[in-house]
Amino acid sequence: MIKKYRTIPIKILILEALLRRLPENHPKRPKIREELVRSYAGYRGEESLDYYLAQLPPDNYYIFQDLRIPISKDTYFQIDILLLTRRYFIIYEAKNMLGTLFFDFNQLVRTYEEKEEIFPDPIVQVQNQQYHLDNLLKKHLNKTVPNTSFVVVTNPSSKIEINSQYHVAKQKVIRNPAILPRFVTYSRQHPTDILDDRELQKITRLLLKFHTPSQPDILSQFQISIDEILPGLYCDRCMSLSIVKVDRTWKCQQCGIENDKAFIQAIIDYFLLIGATITNQQCRAFIQHSSIYVVSRLLRSLKLPYKGSTKGRAYQLSLHDLQKWL
Ligand SMILES: [Zn+2]
Repeated sequence: MIKKYRTIPIKILILEALLRRLPENHPKRPKIREELVRSYAGYRGEESLDYYLAQLPPDNYYIFQDLRIPISKDTYFQIDILLLTRRYFIIYEAKNMLGTLFFDFNQLVRTYEEKEEIFPDPIVQVQNQQYHLDNLLKKHLNKTVPNTSFVVVTNPSSKIEINSQYHVAKQKVIRNPAILPRFVTYSRQHPTDILDDRELQKITRLLLKFHTPSQPDILSQFQISIDEILPGLYCDRCMSLSIVKVDRTWKCQQCGIENDKAFIQAIIDYFLLIGATITNQQCRAFIQHSSIYVVSRLLRSLKLPYKGSTKGRAYQLSLHDLQKWL
C-alpha cells in the first residue's frame, strides 16, 4: 500500500516558472534549462521504480515515495523510496544518469560524451539514510528493525562499472528489474515480525508528520534578483507574457487563444518566485491589470486565507494550495 505519493519537486516548478518569466536573451537561461533537464531526469528515474515495486507480491508493506525527514535544525535526510514492513525496511535510491557509471570508493565517476564528472558515492548516501531511519525507529519505538538499501540505476542504456574491491557496491547497485528478486531474497531471510500493527501505524504517522518538502532558493542559486522577473500573464501556446483581459475573457494578444487559467498560473508563479503573500496592489502590478475591483474579485475567488483589512489585505499562499491547483 502506498502511504505517501511523490509530487513534482518544487525545484522543477520554480525552474519552469523562471523560464516563463525571464527575458528570452537572459544570460542565465541555458544554465536554468540544464538544471531543469537534470531535475526532470531525476524525477523520472524515481517514477520508473514504481512499476517494479507494484509487482512485489501482495503483503503487509507500506511504500513512501520521496521522504525528507529532519535530523536536526536545517538538516534533513531524503529517501527516494522507503518500503516498510513489520519485519524490515528497504530504501531505494534512483540514479538516472546517462553514460558509464563507475562506482568507486567514496565517489561515483560518470563518463558521458568524453566528459568525466564526479558525484558523491550513492552507496554512502543510502547507508546514511539507513542509519538515520534506524535511529528514528530506535528513538520512537525503542526497536531495531533489520534493514537494507539499493541504488537503482534506472537508465537501461547506461553502463555500470564497479571497483572490483568494492564488494558492498556489488551487492547494492542494481537495475530496475532486479528489484523483485532482491526483495524476495531479503524477505525470505527476515521472516520474523519485529513491529506490531500499532508500532507500524505509529511510525507511519510520524514519517508523514515529519516529512518536510524542500523549498530551495533557486533565485539565489542562480543569482537572479526579483527585479529581473517579468510581470504579465503567460500564454502556454506562444510562450509569451501576452494574455490580457478582454471583456469577460483572458486572451493572448500574440496568438489570439483564450485561457481562463492564466490568472491562476500567474499566482503560482508569484508564489514560486516572489513571495508567500500577495496584496491587491502587488497582484495588479504582477498581472499588469489596473482594476482594483477585477483583481479583488479574482483574488477572493481563490479562497485563500488572508490577513488584514480590505485595503491592505494580504492573501497567503501555501505549497498545499499550490499543489491543489497543479
Ligand atoms: Zn499566445
